[in-house]
Amino acid sequence: MSKKLAIYAVQQELSKGREINEPNPKLRNEFQRDRDRIIHSSAFRRLVYKTQVFVNHEGDLYRTRLTHSLEVSQIARTIASSLQLNEPLIEAITLAHDLGHTPFGHAGQDELNKCMKDFGGFEHNLQSLRVVEHLENRYVEFNGLNLMYETREGILKHCSKKNAKRLGGLGERFLKKYQPSLEAQIADIADAITYNHHDIDDGFRAGLLTSKQLREVRLFGRFNSDVKEKYPHASERQLVHETLRRMVDFVINDLILNTSHIISNIQPKNINEIRNQKHYIAQLTDKTKQEHYELKKFLREHLYKHKTVQKMTDRAKIMVKFLFSNYMTNKDKKINEFHHNFDQLDESDKARVIADYIAGMTDRFAISEYNRLVQ
Ligand code: MG
Repeated sequence: MSKKLAIYAVQQELSKGREINEPNPKLRNEFQRDRDRIIHSSAFRRLVYKTQVFVNHEGDLYRTRLTHSLEVSQIARTIASSLQLNEPLIEAITLAHDLGHTPFGHAGQDELNKCMKDFGGFEHNLQSLRVVEHLENRYVEFNGLNLMYETREGILKHCSKKNAKRLGGLGERFLKKYQPSLEAQIADIADAITYNHHDIDDGFRAGLLTSKQLREVRLFGRFNSDVKEKYPHASERQLVHETLRRMVDFVINDLILNTSHIISNIQPKNINEIRNQKHYIAQLTDKTKQEHYELKKFLREHLYKHKTVQKMTDRAKIMVKFLFSNYMTNKDKKINEFHHNFDQLDESDKARVIADYIAGMTDRFAISEYNRLVQ
């Protein structure tokens, strides 16, 4: 790392390390090794064919889970660098944060959660952790990727109390209410900043959101007036882009300045003093938080609930539900290939294997499986 780390950043020397001890890497530090393992995982490659908001085959220019993850990573690294935090760690967390996402975005995850209602439910966040701890199967000496504790901590952004109890060490903070590292906090907020902005871009490109509608959102309206005045001859598309880049810049700067301010008030002397806070130290100012929330609400009402998106969502739910019940009730060789002693498992374990299998599917594989099995 080129820059000196802040004393409250995650330091490799003080890390809680890996579940299975390994020799130190020679050319990289431990968190760079985590990042590289994530990039080389098959779950990471599959992100390219998974929906963010628009189903993957609907257009080549929309964000996919992969490009979303890259954008989150880029934004989070900028913030980490200016706060002197551990950049390779934040890169690893952000690149892995959506590995557990089902095909078809949130619709897929909601439906899979319903299917798993009697078998412990399905949370995509927990599934991302499950991918890096269990499901990736490439190394002889361990299951999963054997990542550093702090990387896994950052991947697990949310967790229900019930699941936290089962998780042991990593779940503890959700029960005892302490905070994750500042790197994990930044990764979490960077995710929201990223999707709030790129979903506007994609929604506008798809013709589902108009500039007129967008101007009702305070944050957008303010910067849009500025760019219209500055570039009276620019196209609508350019104006939206110029507006969005100013918005992102503004929100990121607000987060950096406000977080620095909070840090200078608290004067944390080590990472434990970050963990022992009641709330995240990484915070937007109240005003920007409010405006950012307004943006999120706008997207929920006008984009995620838009009838075009909803139509796709409804179809996705039908497919996920069908696949789940079909694998549960009919013997299918694909499931036996995925899990070799599937037939010997009890019902609940079978359901979990099926959830793992479906969650790992790309959009197009889920569609082809549906088409294969539906006749
Ligand atoms: Mg995300």
